[in-house]
Amino acid sequence: MSNYFQPAYETMPTAEIRALQNEKFLKQMQHVWNDCPDYRKKMEAAGVSVDDIHSLEDIAKLPFTSKDDLREAYPYAMLAKPLADCVRIQSTSGTTGKRVIAYYTQHDLDIWEECCARALVAAGGTKEDVVHVSYGYGLFTGGPGLNGGSHKLGCLTLPMSSGNTDRQLQFMTDLGSTILSCTPSYAAYLGESIKERGLRGQLKLKAGIFGAEAWSEEMRREIEQALGIKAYDIYGLTEISGPGVSFECEEQTGMHINEDHFYAEIIDPDTGEVLPEGAEGELVFTCLDKEAFPVIRYRTKDICVLSRKACSCGRTFVKMVKPRGRSDDMLIIKGVNVFPSQIEAVLLDQGYQANYQLIVDRVNNSDTLDVNVEMTPEKFTDNLGVIGEMEKKLVGALKAMLGIYAKVHLVAPKSITRSEGKAVRVIDKRKI
Ligand SMILES: [Zn+2]
Repeated sequence: MSNYFQPAYETMPTAEIRALQNEKFLKQMQHVWNDCPDYRKKMEAAGVSVDDIHSLEDIAKLPFTSKDDLREAYPYAMLAKPLADCVRIQSTSGTTGKRVIAYYTQHDLDIWEECCARALVAAGGTKEDVVHVSYGYGLFTGGPGLNGGSHKLGCLTLPMSSGNTDRQLQFMTDLGSTILSCTPSYAAYLGESIKERGLRGQLKLKAGIFGAEAWSEEMRREIEQALGIKAYDIYGLTEISGPGVSFECEEQTGMHINEDHFYAEIIDPDTGEVLPEGAEGELVFTCLDKEAFPVIRYRTKDICVLSRKACSCGRTFVKMVKPRGRSDDMLIIKGVNVFPSQIEAVLLDQGYQANYQLIVDRVNNSDTLDVNVEMTPEKFTDNLGVIGEMEKKLVGALKAMLGIYAKVHLVAPKSITRSEGKAVRVIDKRKI
Protein backbone atom coordinates (compact mmCIF):
# COMPACT_ATOMS: atom_id res chain seq x y z
CA MET A 1 0.00 0.00 0.00
CA SER A 2 2.72 2.42 1.05
CA ASN A 3 4.95 4.02 -1.49
CA TYR A 4 8.27 5.73 -1.03
CA PHE A 5 10.35 8.17 -3.04
CA GLN A 6 13.69 6.69 -1.91
CA PRO A 7 12.84 3.36 -0.26
CA ALA A 8 16.47 2.35 0.29
CA TYR A 9 16.80 5.17 2.82
CA GLU A 10 13.23 5.62 4.00
CA THR A 11 12.92 1.99 5.14
CA MET A 12 16.55 1.36 6.12
CA PRO A 13 16.91 -0.64 9.37
CA THR A 14 17.69 1.65 12.31
CA ALA A 15 21.17 0.19 12.92
CA GLU A 16 22.13 0.87 9.31
CA ILE A 17 20.78 4.44 9.47
CA ARG A 18 22.85 4.97 12.58
CA ALA A 19 25.99 3.66 10.83
CA LEU A 20 25.31 5.89 7.82
CA GLN A 21 24.78 8.90 10.10
CA ASN A 22 28.02 8.14 11.90
CA GLU A 23 30.00 7.95 8.70
CA LYS A 24 28.48 11.18 7.33
CA PHE A 25 28.93 12.97 10.65
CA LEU A 26 32.68 12.27 10.85
CA LYS A 27 33.14 13.43 7.27
CA GLN A 28 31.05 16.54 7.98
CA MET A 29 33.12 17.44 11.04
CA GLN A 30 36.32 17.30 8.96
CA HIS A 31 34.66 19.58 6.40
CA VAL A 32 33.44 22.04 9.04
CA TRP A 33 36.80 22.11 10.86
CA ASN A 34 38.70 22.73 7.65
CA ASP A 35 36.27 24.94 5.73
CA CYS A 36 33.98 26.74 8.17
CA PRO A 37 36.06 29.23 10.21
CA ASP A 38 33.03 30.50 12.17
CA TYR A 39 32.24 27.13 13.65
CA ARG A 40 35.89 26.13 14.09
CA LYS A 41 36.34 29.24 16.26
CA LYS A 42 33.37 28.18 18.35
CA MET A 43 34.86 24.71 18.76
CA GLU A 44 38.23 26.13 19.78
CA ALA A 45 36.55 28.47 22.27
CA ALA A 46 34.80 25.42 23.76
CA GLY A 47 38.15 23.61 23.97
CA VAL A 48 37.24 20.89 21.51
CA SER A 49 39.11 19.85 18.36
CA VAL A 50 38.04 17.66 15.49
CA ASP A 51 40.50 15.07 16.88
CA ASP A 52 38.24 14.69 19.92
CA ILE A 53 35.32 13.59 17.73
CA HIS A 54 35.42 9.84 17.02
CA SER A 55 31.73 9.05 16.55
CA LEU A 56 28.22 10.45 17.05
CA GLU A 57 28.64 9.51 20.72
CA ASP A 58 30.92 12.55 20.96
CA ILE A 59 28.41 15.05 19.56
CA ALA A 60 27.56 16.42 23.02
CA LYS A 61 31.14 17.79 23.20
CA LEU A 62 30.32 20.20 20.37
CA PRO A 63 28.92 23.69 21.00
CA PHE A 64 25.36 24.52 20.01
CA THR A 65 24.56 26.93 17.21
CA SER A 66 21.83 29.46 17.97
CA LYS A 67 19.86 31.73 15.71
CA ASP A 68 21.78 34.64 17.21
CA ASP A 69 25.09 33.02 16.16
CA LEU A 70 23.85 32.87 12.58
CA ARG A 71 22.54 36.43 12.70
CA GLU A 72 25.75 37.82 14.15
CA ALA A 73 27.81 36.38 11.33
CA TYR A 74 25.52 37.96 8.69
CA PRO A 75 25.91 37.86 5.74
CA TYR A 76 28.33 34.92 5.47
CA ALA A 77 27.41 32.99 8.60
CA MET A 78 28.72 29.45 8.65
CA LEU A 79 29.49 29.51 4.95
CA ALA A 80 31.73 26.49 4.29
CA LYS A 81 32.13 26.58 0.50
CA PRO A 82 33.51 29.22 -1.85
CA LEU A 83 30.69 31.46 -3.08
CA ALA A 84 31.51 30.31 -6.62
CA ASP A 85 30.30 26.82 -5.65
CA CYS A 86 26.99 28.13 -4.27
CA VAL A 87 23.97 28.36 -6.57
CA ARG A 88 21.18 29.72 -4.34
CA ILE A 89 20.38 31.58 -1.17
CA GLN A 90 17.20 31.56 0.87
CA SER A 91 16.55 33.66 3.92
CA THR A 92 14.50 33.85 7.10
CA SER A 93 11.90 36.59 7.45
CA GLY A 94 14.00 38.69 9.82
CA THR A 95 10.90 39.89 11.68
CA THR A 96 12.74 39.85 15.00
CA GLY A 97 16.21 40.94 13.93
CA LYS A 98 18.74 40.49 11.18
CA ARG A 99 17.96 37.91 8.55
CA VAL A 100 19.75 34.58 8.47
CA ILE A 101 20.98 33.78 4.97
CA ALA A 102 21.26 30.10 4.06
CA TYR A 103 23.53 29.04 1.17
CA TYR A 104 23.07 26.02 -1.07
CA THR A 105 25.29 24.19 -3.53
CA GLN A 106 23.52 22.17 -6.23
CA HIS A 107 24.09 19.08 -4.04
CA ASP A 108 22.35 20.85 -1.12
CA LEU A 109 19.39 21.83 -3.30
CA ASP A 110 19.07 18.24 -4.50
CA ILE A 111 18.94 16.96 -0.90
CA TRP A 112 16.33 19.54 0.05
CA GLU A 113 14.12 18.87 -2.96
CA GLU A 114 14.37 15.10 -2.51
CA CYS A 115 13.20 15.52 1.08
CA CYS A 116 10.16 17.47 -0.18
CA ALA A 117 9.53 14.78 -2.83
CA ARG A 118 9.50 12.17 -0.03
CA ALA A 119 6.83 14.26 1.74
CA LEU A 120 4.73 14.43 -1.43
CA VAL A 121 4.91 10.66 -1.94
CA ALA A 122 4.03 10.08 1.73
CA ALA A 123 0.90 12.18 1.09
CA GLY A 124 -0.06 9.88 -1.78
CA GLY A 125 1.62 11.90 -4.54
CA THR A 126 2.73 10.40 -7.87
CA LYS A 127 3.84 11.90 -11.18
CA GLU A 128 0.16 12.00 -12.20
CA ASP A 129 -0.56 14.70 -9.63
CA VAL A 130 -1.10 18.42 -10.11
CA VAL A 131 0.68 20.14 -7.22
CA HIS A 132 -0.68 23.56 -6.32
CA VAL A 133 1.97 25.49 -4.35
CA SER A 134 0.45 28.47 -2.53
CA TYR A 135 3.36 29.08 -0.21
CA GLY A 136 5.21 32.34 -0.83
CA TYR A 137 8.07 32.16 -3.32
CA GLY A 138 11.26 34.19 -3.19
CA LEU A 139 13.51 34.23 -0.14
CA PHE A 140 11.00 32.22 1.94
CA THR A 141 11.75 28.48 1.64
CA GLY A 142 8.12 27.30 1.49
CA GLY A 143 7.43 27.90 -2.21
CA PRO A 144 10.84 26.91 -3.64
CA GLY A 145 11.03 23.77 -1.45
CA LEU A 146 7.69 22.23 -2.42
CA ASN A 147 8.14 23.44 -6.00
CA GLY A 148 11.47 21.59 -6.21
CA GLY A 149 10.06 18.45 -4.60
CA SER A 150 7.16 18.43 -7.02
CA HIS A 151 9.59 18.68 -9.97
CA LYS A 152 11.72 15.82 -8.63
CA LEU A 153 8.61 13.65 -8.46
CA GLY A 154 7.58 14.69 -11.95
CA CYS A 155 4.27 16.28 -11.01
CA LEU A 156 2.71 19.14 -12.94
CA THR A 157 3.67 22.02 -10.66
CA LEU A 158 1.58 25.18 -10.30
CA PRO A 159 3.84 27.88 -8.80
CA MET A 160 0.90 29.97 -7.52
CA SER A 161 2.67 31.67 -4.61
CA SER A 162 0.43 33.17 -1.92
CA GLY A 163 -2.38 35.68 -2.30
CA ASN A 164 -4.89 36.48 -5.04
CA THR A 165 -7.48 34.03 -3.81
CA ASP A 166 -9.70 34.40 -6.92
CA ARG A 167 -6.86 33.24 -9.16
CA GLN A 168 -5.97 30.42 -6.74
CA LEU A 169 -9.53 29.08 -6.91
CA GLN A 170 -9.80 29.53 -10.65
CA PHE A 171 -6.62 27.53 -11.36
CA MET A 172 -7.52 24.98 -8.71
CA THR A 173 -10.84 24.22 -10.44
CA ASP A 174 -9.80 24.76 -14.10
CA LEU A 175 -6.51 22.82 -13.88
CA GLY A 176 -7.72 20.17 -11.46
CA SER A 177 -5.16 20.65 -8.67
CA THR A 178 -4.88 17.42 -6.64
CA ILE A 179 -2.37 18.36 -3.92
CA LEU A 180 -2.35 21.76 -2.20
CA SER A 181 0.61 23.10 -0.25
CA CYS A 182 0.55 26.30 1.85
CA THR A 183 0.38 27.47 5.46
CA PRO A 184 -2.48 25.90 7.45
CA SER A 185 -4.02 29.32 8.08
CA TYR A 186 -4.16 30.01 4.34
CA ALA A 187 -5.60 26.52 3.71
CA ALA A 188 -8.37 27.31 6.22
CA TYR A 189 -9.02 30.61 4.46
CA LEU A 190 -9.16 28.91 1.06
CA GLY A 191 -11.61 26.40 2.59
CA GLU A 192 -13.79 29.27 3.81
CA SER A 193 -13.73 30.95 0.36
CA ILE A 194 -14.57 27.65 -1.40
CA LYS A 195 -17.57 27.18 0.86
CA GLU A 196 -18.83 30.74 0.25
CA ARG A 197 -18.60 30.33 -3.49
CA GLY A 198 -20.03 26.81 -3.53
CA LEU A 199 -17.00 25.42 -5.39
CA ARG A 200 -16.50 22.26 -3.34
CA GLY A 201 -18.07 20.02 -6.04
CA GLN A 202 -15.60 21.27 -8.67
CA LEU A 203 -12.44 20.40 -6.68
CA LYS A 204 -10.19 17.46 -7.47
CA LEU A 205 -8.03 17.95 -4.36
CA LYS A 206 -7.11 14.74 -2.50
CA ALA A 207 -4.34 15.86 -0.14
CA GLY A 208 -2.71 18.91 1.35
CA ILE A 209 0.76 19.47 2.81
CA PHE A 210 0.77 22.29 5.31
CA GLY A 211 3.51 23.76 7.47
CA ALA A 212 5.54 26.83 8.49
CA GLU A 213 3.30 27.49 11.49
CA ALA A 214 2.00 25.47 14.43
CA TRP A 215 -1.51 24.06 13.96
CA SER A 216 -3.76 21.92 16.11
CA GLU A 217 -5.50 18.59 15.44
CA GLU A 218 -8.81 20.47 15.55
CA MET A 219 -7.59 22.77 12.78
CA ARG A 220 -6.49 19.72 10.77
CA ARG A 221 -10.04 18.30 10.97
CA GLU A 222 -11.53 21.64 9.97
CA ILE A 223 -9.26 21.92 6.88
CA GLU A 224 -9.87 18.27 5.92
CA GLN A 225 -13.62 18.82 6.05
CA ALA A 226 -13.62 22.13 4.21
CA LEU A 227 -11.42 20.90 1.36
CA GLY A 228 -12.42 17.22 1.32
CA ILE A 229 -8.78 16.11 1.65
CA LYS A 230 -6.35 14.38 3.96
CA ALA A 231 -4.11 17.08 5.51
CA TYR A 232 -0.44 16.29 6.18
CA ASP A 233 1.99 18.22 8.33
CA ILE A 234 5.47 19.13 7.11
CA TYR A 235 8.28 20.66 9.14
CA GLY A 236 11.46 22.47 8.38
CA LEU A 237 13.47 25.59 8.90
CA THR A 238 15.65 27.69 6.65
CA GLU A 239 18.66 27.27 8.93
CA ILE A 240 18.60 23.50 8.33
CA SER A 241 17.40 23.57 4.68
CA GLY A 242 13.69 24.43 4.49
CA PRO A 243 10.46 22.40 4.55
CA GLY A 244 10.98 18.65 4.40
CA VAL A 245 13.36 18.20 7.36
CA SER A 246 10.51 15.98 8.52
CA PHE A 247 7.15 15.02 7.07
CA GLU A 248 4.00 13.17 7.96
CA CYS A 249 2.85 9.83 6.55
CA GLU A 250 -0.69 8.42 6.33
CA GLU A 251 -0.66 7.45 10.03
CA GLN A 252 -0.67 11.17 10.96
CA THR A 253 0.94 10.51 14.35
CA GLY A 254 4.11 12.53 13.98
CA MET A 255 6.61 13.54 11.32
CA HIS A 256 9.39 11.23 10.10
CA ILE A 257 12.75 13.02 10.26
CA ASN A 258 14.92 12.50 7.17
CA GLU A 259 17.62 10.91 9.28
CA ASP A 260 20.00 10.16 6.43
CA HIS A 261 20.52 13.94 6.17
CA PHE A 262 19.67 15.36 9.60
CA TYR A 263 20.67 14.11 13.04
CA ALA A 264 18.16 14.99 15.77
CA GLU A 265 18.72 15.40 19.50
CA ILE A 266 16.35 16.43 22.29
CA ILE A 267 17.87 18.62 24.99
CA ASP A 268 16.83 20.25 28.21
CA PRO A 269 16.30 23.86 27.05
CA ASP A 270 17.62 25.25 30.35
CA THR A 271 20.76 23.16 30.89
CA GLY A 272 21.56 22.00 27.32
CA GLU A 273 21.84 18.41 28.57
CA VAL A 274 20.91 15.71 26.02
CA LEU A 275 17.74 13.90 27.12
CA PRO A 276 16.91 10.23 26.51
CA GLU A 277 14.60 9.26 23.66
CA GLY A 278 10.97 9.76 24.62
CA ALA A 279 11.59 12.80 26.83
CA GLU A 280 10.07 16.16 25.96
CA GLY A 281 12.56 18.92 25.25
CA GLU A 282 14.05 21.24 22.66
CA LEU A 283 14.80 19.80 19.25
CA VAL A 284 18.38 20.19 17.98
CA PHE A 285 19.50 19.38 14.43
CA THR A 286 22.88 18.67 12.83
CA CYS A 287 23.17 18.73 9.03
CA LEU A 288 25.01 15.53 8.12
CA ASP A 289 25.81 16.14 4.47
CA LYS A 290 24.99 19.69 3.48
CA GLU A 291 28.03 21.39 1.93
CA ALA A 292 27.56 25.17 1.87
CA PHE A 293 25.73 25.75 5.15
CA PRO A 294 26.51 22.76 7.39
CA VAL A 295 24.91 23.90 10.62
CA ILE A 296 25.93 21.82 13.64
CA ARG A 297 23.73 21.31 16.71
CA TYR A 298 21.21 24.00 15.80
CA ARG A 299 18.80 24.87 18.59
CA THR A 300 15.37 25.06 16.93
CA LYS A 301 13.48 26.26 20.05
CA ASP A 302 10.76 23.77 19.08
CA ILE A 303 9.58 21.72 22.03
CA CYS A 304 8.70 18.13 21.13
CA VAL A 305 9.29 14.41 21.69
CA LEU A 306 10.99 11.82 19.43
CA SER A 307 9.53 8.35 18.99
CA ARG A 308 10.93 5.19 17.41
CA LYS A 309 7.70 3.23 17.72
CA ALA A 310 7.27 1.17 14.53
CA CYS A 311 5.12 3.01 11.99
CA SER A 312 2.46 1.29 9.87
CA CYS A 313 3.78 3.09 6.76
CA GLY A 314 7.01 1.05 6.94
CA ARG A 315 9.30 4.06 7.25
CA THR A 316 11.99 3.55 9.86
CA PHE A 317 12.95 7.21 10.35
CA VAL A 318 12.36 8.48 13.88
CA LYS A 319 9.19 10.52 14.32
CA MET A 320 8.86 13.88 16.05
CA VAL A 321 5.44 14.45 17.54
CA LYS A 322 3.88 17.68 16.44
CA PRO A 323 5.80 20.45 18.19
CA ARG A 324 3.74 21.97 20.97
CA GLY A 325 4.93 25.28 19.63
CA ARG A 326 8.18 27.19 19.49
CA SER A 327 9.55 28.20 22.86
CA ASP A 328 9.61 31.64 21.15
CA ASP A 329 5.82 31.48 20.67
CA MET A 330 5.22 30.53 24.26
CA LEU A 331 3.67 33.35 26.24
CA ILE A 332 4.15 33.66 29.96
CA ILE A 333 0.97 35.21 31.30
CA LYS A 334 0.57 35.64 35.06
CA GLY A 335 3.45 33.19 35.42
CA VAL A 336 1.66 30.49 33.41
CA ASN A 337 3.04 29.05 30.14
CA VAL A 338 0.49 29.59 27.37
CA PHE A 339 0.83 28.37 23.78
CA PRO A 340 -1.45 30.02 21.19
CA SER A 341 -2.07 26.49 19.85
CA GLN A 342 -3.80 25.57 23.15
CA ILE A 343 -6.21 28.48 22.77
CA GLU A 344 -6.84 27.56 19.14
CA ALA A 345 -7.69 23.99 20.16
CA VAL A 346 -10.31 25.27 22.64
CA LEU A 347 -11.89 27.60 20.06
CA LEU A 348 -12.18 24.88 17.41
CA ASP A 349 -13.47 22.40 19.96
CA GLN A 350 -16.22 24.90 20.85
CA GLY A 351 -17.30 25.16 17.21
CA TYR A 352 -15.45 28.36 16.23
CA GLN A 353 -12.95 28.66 13.41
CA ALA A 354 -9.27 29.54 13.70
CA ASN A 355 -9.97 33.22 13.15
CA TYR A 356 -8.77 34.81 16.36
CA GLN A 357 -6.25 37.18 17.81
CA LEU A 358 -4.66 37.26 21.26
CA ILE A 359 -3.81 40.55 22.90
CA VAL A 360 -1.54 40.40 25.92
CA ASP A 361 -0.98 43.49 28.03
CA ARG A 362 0.06 44.53 31.51
CA VAL A 363 -2.35 46.68 33.52
CA ASN A 364 -1.44 47.80 37.06
CA ASN A 365 1.49 45.35 37.07
CA SER A 366 -0.75 42.43 36.26
CA ASP A 367 -0.85 40.55 32.94
CA THR A 368 -4.07 40.51 30.94
CA LEU A 369 -5.11 38.25 28.09
CA ASP A 370 -7.85 39.29 25.67
CA VAL A 371 -9.04 36.82 23.06
CA ASN A 372 -10.87 38.24 20.03
CA VAL A 373 -12.77 35.49 18.25
CA GLU A 374 -14.91 35.70 15.15
CA MET A 375 -18.40 34.27 15.32
CA THR A 376 -18.97 31.82 12.49
CA PRO A 377 -21.78 32.72 10.05
CA GLU A 378 -23.85 29.94 11.71
CA LYS A 379 -23.31 31.33 15.22
CA PHE A 380 -23.67 34.98 14.22
CA THR A 381 -26.23 36.99 16.19
CA ASP A 382 -26.66 40.60 17.26
CA ASN A 383 -28.54 39.62 20.41
CA LEU A 384 -26.23 40.95 23.14
CA GLY A 385 -27.66 38.58 25.73
CA VAL A 386 -26.87 35.55 23.57
CA ILE A 387 -23.38 36.91 22.77
CA GLY A 388 -22.75 37.39 26.49
CA GLU A 389 -23.70 33.76 27.16
CA MET A 390 -21.44 32.51 24.34
CA GLU A 391 -18.53 34.57 25.66
CA LYS A 392 -19.06 33.25 29.16
CA LYS A 393 -18.95 29.67 27.88
CA LEU A 394 -15.64 30.31 26.10
CA VAL A 395 -14.15 31.99 29.17
CA GLY A 396 -14.95 28.82 31.14
CA ALA A 397 -13.46 26.51 28.51
CA LEU A 398 -10.27 28.63 28.28
CA LYS A 399 -9.94 28.72 32.06
CA ALA A 400 -10.22 24.92 32.17
CA MET A 401 -7.44 24.57 29.56
CA LEU A 402 -5.05 27.34 30.63
CA GLY A 403 -5.77 27.78 34.30
CA ILE A 404 -6.02 31.56 33.92
CA TYR A 405 -8.77 34.05 33.14
CA ALA A 406 -8.97 35.36 29.58
CA LYS A 407 -11.42 38.05 28.53
CA VAL A 408 -13.28 36.91 25.41
CA HIS A 409 -14.70 39.27 22.79
CA LEU A 410 -16.86 37.75 20.07
CA VAL A 411 -16.66 39.81 16.90
CA ALA A 412 -18.49 39.69 13.58
CA PRO A 413 -17.49 37.15 10.92
CA LYS A 414 -14.65 38.38 8.63
CA SER A 415 -13.67 41.24 10.95
CA ILE A 416 -10.21 39.82 11.78
CA THR A 417 -7.68 40.39 8.99
CA ARG A 418 -6.85 37.20 7.05
CA SER A 419 -3.27 36.22 6.38
CA GLU A 420 -1.91 34.81 3.14
CA GLY A 421 1.29 33.62 4.75
CA LYS A 422 1.98 33.07 8.42
CA ALA A 423 -0.91 34.35 10.54
CA VAL A 424 -0.32 37.08 13.13
CA ARG A 425 -2.06 35.58 16.13
CA VAL A 426 -0.50 37.43 19.04
CA ILE A 427 -0.09 41.09 19.86
CA ASP A 428 2.03 41.34 22.98
CA LYS A 429 1.74 44.96 24.11
CA ARG A 430 4.09 44.25 27.03
CA LYS A 431 6.93 44.23 24.50
CA ILE A 432 6.02 47.50 22.77
ZN1 LIG B 1 4.96 6.51 8.99
